[in-house]
Amino acid sequence: MLKLSGEAFAGKEPMGIDPGVVGQLADSIAEAVRGGVQVAVVVGGGNMFRGAALSQGGMDRARADYMGMLSTVINCLALQDFLEKRGIETRVQTAITMQQVAEPFLPRRAIRHLEKGRVVIFGAGLGSPFFSTDTCAAQRALEIGAQALLKGTQVDGVYDDDPRKNPDAVRFDHLEYGEVLTRGLGVMDATAISLCMDNGLPIVVFDLMGEGNILRAVRGEKIGTLVSP
Ligand code: UDP
Repeated sequence: MLKLSGEAFAGKEPMGIDPGVVGQLADSIAEAVRGGVQVAVVVGGGNMFRGAALSQGGMDRARADYMGMLSTVINCLALQDFLEKRGIETRVQTAITMQQVAEPFLPRRAIRHLEKGRVVIFGAGLGSPFFSTDTCAAQRALEIGAQALLKGTQVDGVYDDDPRKNPDAVRFDHLEYGEVLTRGLGVMDATAISLCMDNGLPIVVFDLMGEGNILRAVRGEKIGTLVSP
C-alpha cells in the first residue's frame, strides 16, 4: 500500500497538479507493477483542500473535510490517467459513491483487481470527516491484506528534529510504534500509527521523489525509516 501525499502532486507550486510529477510517480508505479508487485495507492488532497485549514478560516470542520475528501478524488483521477497512458490497468474506488467517475470501495473486488495486476487507487479517504488519508491508507492496507504501508514524504525518513531547519537532526533507521507516539514524531497522525501498531502493519517512510525510491520501497529493499514492532 503506497500512500502519496497530495502535496507531492503540486510539485513546486502551492496548489494544483504538476503533470511532470504525477508522470514521474506513474512511471515508478508502472515499473513496480510490471515487475510483478501488487500495488494499491491512497492519495491525499493537501495540494487542494485540507479540512483543518479551511475550518481555521471559519468553515464548519465536517463540511471542510468533505471538500478535502473530494480533492483526493481529483488527484486519483489524475494518477489513473497517467498510469493508463503507460499501459497500466487501474481502478479508482471511492469511499463516497460517485459511480460516473469511480467504483465504490469494495474490498473483495479491490483484491481481485490487484490479483489481475491492476493498480487500485483509493479515493475520498474513509468517507468520514475528522480522519486523514494516512489513517485511510492504514485501514485500507489492513482490509486488503497489504504487507506494508509505504509512506512517501518530502524527506528521506524520520528524524528527531526537522532536517530542513536543523542540520544536526538525526535520522532513525528503525522506530517502534510506541516511540513515534511518545516522542511526538510527525510521521503520521496518532490514529494512523495506533491502527498500524494494533495490527502489526509495518510502515516505511521514504523520500517519494528520490530516483528509484518507489521501486526500492515496493520491493522491500532497505530505505528510509522502518516503523515496526
Ligand atoms: N479527509 C477526511 N477523511 C478522510 C480522509 C481525508 O476528512 O478519511 C479530508 C481531511 O480534511 C484532509 C483532506 O481530506 O485534510 C485531505 O487529506 P490529507 O490531509 O490526509 O492529504 P495529504 O496530507 O496526504 O495530502
